[in-house]
Amino acid sequence: MNDDLTILYVEDEDGIRKQLTRFLEYFSSSLYLASNGKEGLELYKEYNPDIVISDIKMPIMNGIDMVKNIKNINPKQHIIFITAHSESQFFIDAIDMHVDGYILKPISLDKLENKLEDIKEHIKLKEYYIAHQQELENRAYRDGLTQVYNRRYFEEAFDREIARYQREDRPLSIFMLDIDKFKNINDNYGHQIGDEILKGLVHIIKNNIRAIDIFARWGGEEFVCILPNTIRKDAILVAQHLREIIEKHNFIDNISVTCSFGVAEFNQEDTKESIVKRVDKALYLAKEGGRNRVEI
Ligand code: GH3
Ligand code: MG
Ligand code: MG
Ligand code: MG
Repeated sequence: MNDDLTILYVEDEDGIRKQLTRFLEYFSSSLYLASNGKEGLELYKEYNPDIVISDIKMPIMNGIDMVKNIKNINPKQHIIFITAHSESQFFIDAIDMHVDGYILKPISLDKLENKLEDIKEHIKLKEYYIAHQQELENRAYRDGLTQVYNRRYFEEAFDREIARYQREDRPLSIFMLDIDKFKNINDNYGHQIGDEILKGLVHIIKNNIRAIDIFARWGGEEFVCILPNTIRKDAILVAQHLREIIEKHNFIDNISVTCSFGVAEFNQEDTKESIVKRVDKALYLAKEGGRNRVEI
């Protein structure tokens, strides 16, 4: 067993605590020790351990009360009781609190080891499941090349923002941008360089918008950005700022590119489709007007 689980061990009897500490150190390099429930609870709040192992009968605060507090903080906390108790009320309490198990004193180290292994297995499976779940979400909602949100995410996020606009009556703007004459870049430098420029562009833009702005790849060399709580005037400023930084930036191999922008603010009569149409039209105007411009 490796040592990446954090354990809190609470026991009031020094002799027992010392003995078991030696054993637990083998499982965990992050072992926290307390000699009553109150201390244990404080350590718990500070270190948020993976597993709590606790005695029952202790001064100041007993193990049952400590675990009740802990379960209020995290109902899924892994708990093992170590006890000399064998009264039925204790077991009823322990079952009610959904603890992972109990070990009767004198402590069987084999039994404790098995319990720790079970819990560790459970934690690992859960971590694996969460990571897997995130990976699936990434694939569904992110663009493979640039790792920004894809069109699908944009559609869903925009629905949410429009609902919020209607609920909270706050302004909402979007801009769309398209790289100018990007076909020439591919033709002159190759598709791979083109890909690098797309990634570089995304990097610059993400570094120059707010965390609440939702930036997505619309498709090809076109991107879209939702700006919550933003009026058109401010959205134009953001777009102009980005336009300038991009124009001045040296991408891979000292290549420079420019972008054209369309900006629109959501209004009461708008739907997702109608504002996208409008912003697309604005982008078209920017292209018609000579590119490397922002239009509304
Ligand atoms: P305009 O200023 O009118 O937008 O000219 P443009 O050349 O950028 O527009 P056009 O629509 O003719 O060409 C878009 C180009 O973008 C062509 C396509 O190969 C390139 N492109 C789209 N997606 C990718 C990509 O993922 N990687 C690379 N390298 N190129 C891409
Ligand atoms: Mg005790
Ligand atoms: Mg295009
Ligand atoms: Mg283009």
